[in-house]
Amino acid sequence: MNFEYSEKAGEIRARLTAFMDEHVYPNERRYDQEINAGDRWQPLGLIEDLKSKAKAAGLWNLFLPDVSGLSNLEYAPLAEVIGRVTWASEVFNCSAPDTGNMEVLHLYGTDEQKKQWLEPLMAGEIRSCFAMTEPDVASSDATNIQASIRPDGDHYILNGRKWWSTGAGDARCKLAIFMGKTDESAPKHLQQSMILVPMDTEGVKVKRNLLVFGYDDAPNGHSEVTFEDVRVPKTNLLLGEGRGFEIAQGRLGPGRVHHCMRLIGVAERSLELMCERANSRVAFGKPIAEQGVVRQWIAEARLAIDQARLLVLNAAWKMDTVGNKAARKEIAMIKAAVPQMALKVVDRAIQVHGGGGVCEDFPLASFWMYARTLRLADGPDEVHLESIAKMELKKNKRGGCLGEKMMGEKFSFPFPEGRLPLIGACWRCRISPLALEFRGATELWALLGDQPPPPALTFPPPKKFFLFGGGGGKFPPRGGGVGF
Ligand SMILES: Cc1cc2nc3c(=O)[nH]c(=O)nc-3n(C[C@H](O)[C@H](O)[C@H](O)COP(=O)(O)OP(=O)(O)OC[C@H]3O[C@@H](n4cnc5c(N)ncnc54)[C@H](O)[C@@H]3O)c2cc1C
Repeated sequence: MNFEYSEKAGEIRARLTAFMDEHVYPNERRYDQEINAGDRWQPLGLIEDLKSKAKAAGLWNLFLPDVSGLSNLEYAPLAEVIGRVTWASEVFNCSAPDTGNMEVLHLYGTDEQKKQWLEPLMAGEIRSCFAMTEPDVASSDATNIQASIRPDGDHYILNGRKWWSTGAGDARCKLAIFMGKTDESAPKHLQQSMILVPMDTEGVKVKRNLLVFGYDDAPNGHSEVTFEDVRVPKTNLLLGEGRGFEIAQGRLGPGRVHHCMRLIGVAERSLELMCERANSRVAFGKPIAEQGVVRQWIAEARLAIDQARLLVLNAAWKMDTVGNKAARKEIAMIKAAVPQMALKVVDRAIQVHGGGGVCEDFPLASFWMYARTLRLADGPDEVHLESIAKMELKKNKRGGCLGEKMMGEKFSFPFPEGRLPLIGACWRCRISPLALEFRGATELWALLGDQPPPPALTFPPPKKFFLFGGGGGKFPPRGGGVGF
């Protein structure tokens, strides 16, 4: 693996840095002034102006590989630069939750859905929200969600109460991607679907904008939104009934790299501020920078940031080389590690700033709020740690059976239509030659972890059979099947 900037990423990074120096940092105060001057939920003149400049400079939609031509590994250092100012990602049309929603539309939208919603989102003309979390259930386990999507002729009727729908408070928010249940009798992960809901549909109501440690995050906000007998055409459904979890998985991988790299930008800037402050203030007869404990915090921050950056680049590299699914442990690792790292660095930078650290004269207080919420948003730390533990334990389970692992991998997914099935057999960690002949056999081992291929390829009487979907020669196969 090589984490050096590619020529293209290095060139864009230089231009992005120059843009930040010229247009973003000098306007940090103006942003606060504009927000506080008028209606907090209307778009800011400053942002609209900077968006035009960024578009003209070709620094636009950098997050989407098919458009920017940048891999996850190439985009990651750009997200770090952007993350140094919390509102800057919108300037480059690279802000959550629009980025995740654009990815969904790009990957799973029909031509019509793309025309109606993806085009204006990519142009930065409208904004969107993602409505999954509900106040009434523990939504870190998304199988709990209760919102319903019921068929009614050629329409669906939606009901549900959502909260923490980021961006719903923004006057430009025209679209919600709504997650609800279409079939409560289906297997646990096949009950949910996602559907596109225009925000001006009758029955959609933004009830309130929640405060986060006292910040309203205007003009985007995090809202409680109710959906009461909301009627939308069936053509608004994404991908198909019961495919909500599949979409959620596709949506989250790159988004976590973006979040984590922006947080590394936050931590890096906090360290810079910490050093500047420590060098410039004198307490008890010597610069704060000469206090042993502060020197230790600075050194520890450098160690922590560089470790975290390498972890994220590794996850991005793995996503680029073996795919998001095979990189899911690395993705969980960064989401668990980076917010905690950033929070600690920001906290120490605040401490070095004394009272100044918690007020609006420095970006540190809002950095702290931002890093703290990312220990929850996009799944709490504990859920990611649990996934990592599960994968480690499974990998090291004595006497574990490869066939069982494969079935575990595949069984929760629907068998896709129109794809060729492949029959294989497992007998205590051996796999049939039939399966090994499959074109993606090498990737198959990668998918199953670090376990080497079984030494013997004899075909003893199988104890278990499994059937899984081939991906038209692609691997990992899209879909799964039944075992008997
Ligand atoms: C600023 C912000 C923005 C957000 N934006 C959005 C958005 O745009 N759209 C959206 O749909 N949601 C959004 N969310 C919601 C976020 O994704 C959820 O808050 C999160 O998934 C946790 O769900 P919950 O709040 O229901 O907590 P719960 O599910 O009630 O969990 C509470 C706590 O239980 C513990 N816990 C849960 N599971 C485990 C486990 N397996 N092991 C150990 N402990 C566990 C954890 O400590 C967890 O924090 C946002 C949240 C915040 C704070």
